[in-house]
Amino acid sequence: MTFIAPIKFAIDLLAVLLLALGIKGLSKVRSAREANRLAGIAMMLAAFGVLLNSQGTIGISINSWIWIICGTLIGGLLGALTAKRVPMTAMPEIVALFNGCGGMSSLLVALGVALFPSSDGSDGFVGELIRNFSIVVSLFVGAITFSGSIVAMAKLQGWLSTPSWTQSKARHFFNIFCAVLALIGGIYLSIDGQNGLFLIVIASSLLGIGVTLPIGGADMPVVISLLNSYSGVAAAAAGFVVGSQLLIVAGAMVGAAGLILTQVMCDGMNRSLVSVLFGGALGSSSVASGGGGEYTNITSCSPEECALSLEAAERVVIVPGYGLAVAQAQHTLREVTRVLENAEIEVTYAIHPVAGRMPGHMNVLLAEADVPYEQLKEMDVINPEFPATDVVLVLGANDVVNPQAKTDQSSPLYGMPVLDVQEARTVFVVKRGMSAGYSGIKNDLFDLPNTSMVFGDAKKVLGDLLLELKDLGVGSKG
Ligand code: NAP
Repeated sequence: MTFIAPIKFAIDLLAVLLLALGIKGLSKVRSAREANRLAGIAMMLAAFGVLLNSQGTIGISINSWIWIICGTLIGGLLGALTAKRVPMTAMPEIVALFNGCGGMSSLLVALGVALFPSSDGSDGFVGELIRNFSIVVSLFVGAITFSGSIVAMAKLQGWLSTPSWTQSKARHFFNIFCAVLALIGGIYLSIDGQNGLFLIVIASSLLGIGVTLPIGGADMPVVISLLNSYSGVAAAAAGFVVGSQLLIVAGAMVGAAGLILTQVMCDGMNRSLVSVLFGGALGSSSVASGGGGEYTNITSCSPEECALSLEAAERVVIVPGYGLAVAQAQHTLREVTRVLENAEIEVTYAIHPVAGRMPGHMNVLLAEADVPYEQLKEMDVINPEFPATDVVLVLGANDVVNPQAKTDQSSPLYGMPVLDVQEARTVFVVKRGMSAGYSGIKNDLFDLPNTSMVFGDAKKVLGDLLLELKDLGVGSKG
């Protein structure tokens, strides 16, 4: 059945191409849905490609075919059901769970090959060593990814809190101890392909728990994207174990993409990866070393005054933040912006890359409320437009609009790219009180003469604003 070889080659090549296109398309909101579909098709083709072996024959038994097809169907069904049922707000937990599944798959593949070796020794000493080393990497990274992802999911879900011992130096000793045990297991396994197998699996799993457990909720998205990268590395190593070029390429792409996203998020939060991983669960106060001080010039106003300014505006920019998500005020916001648009007031939304608590948090939130993509503007695009803006409405955002990030070298935010909302004519900040944002520091924006605070829960304030705008007849044609 030699004709199968070129078919398998074509299937593998097509799967790699579709996956690469899928990953590229995910970088834009507009193409993300289609890209996700392409990547899904790529995975289906990849699973089909496994049914044909590399020698160009349907070399595996019908029994194995049945196992692979059943596994693919059951896994696909569970994935589809989960994706359908999960609310948008639980996306980080689901991504963590899926990463964990990726890590576990690589772990099981390596475990299977190590426990039931099919090699007849013809690979020679070097070949055996490379294979054993790949098994070690796959077990090590796969186990860390699996246990770390499950801990991350449980923490995000609120099932697991941060034990106090993980905030002390003891956790470093625990992690180093686990890493050394995993290394010993790895050395044994590399040499003879059998011994040390369970030592490495158990020690690496404990290491994954020990590294992830101390990390605070706000830093979790960085950890999740790092674990996503690890799941790619584990898959690539599993690709070496079973001799699948497709798995090597796909794993390497996922690994690299996850690493780039991790770096982008660390830059956006002005944190280093080392401080996220080894700093533990930073509370607000522990982050802030500078940037403190008292507020001296706070002006507050009512939704009515805010509505009057909006009525007179030609150009309005909305800045959504974490508080908007907490208040679940996206739908009320959409009603307010519809009224403004009906009055021919130009409305756009300024999206900071790390606004909220996960990458793309604001995009997801606003998409849920049917805000058109075209109205979302990224920071670099919107920043030069603030001087020509009449009103900025900051909704439950804090750090991402703090001018200290540009002006105060002692501030923990210094260097973090922020939205220059203070350049606009008038700024209204909607929040419940004067408490700080994630960084735990004072926000100099609130003291500026063109800023007014509208105190209250974002949903309640937006509801009141909507009533005021309607009372003023804004957007009611005729
Ligand atoms: P933020 O700095 O955390 O501030 C959120 C503000 O929302 C708070 O000041 C809070 O003030 C207000 N708020 C909370 N609940 C509210 C409600 N129901 N109604 C109205 N206001 C409410 O948020 P951000 O400006 O979005 O900045 C995000 C921060 O999170 C950045 O420091 C970023 O680095 C960090 N972070 C982001 C990610 C990510 O991936 N996106 C990951 C981890 C950390 P009151 O309590 O006074 O109302």
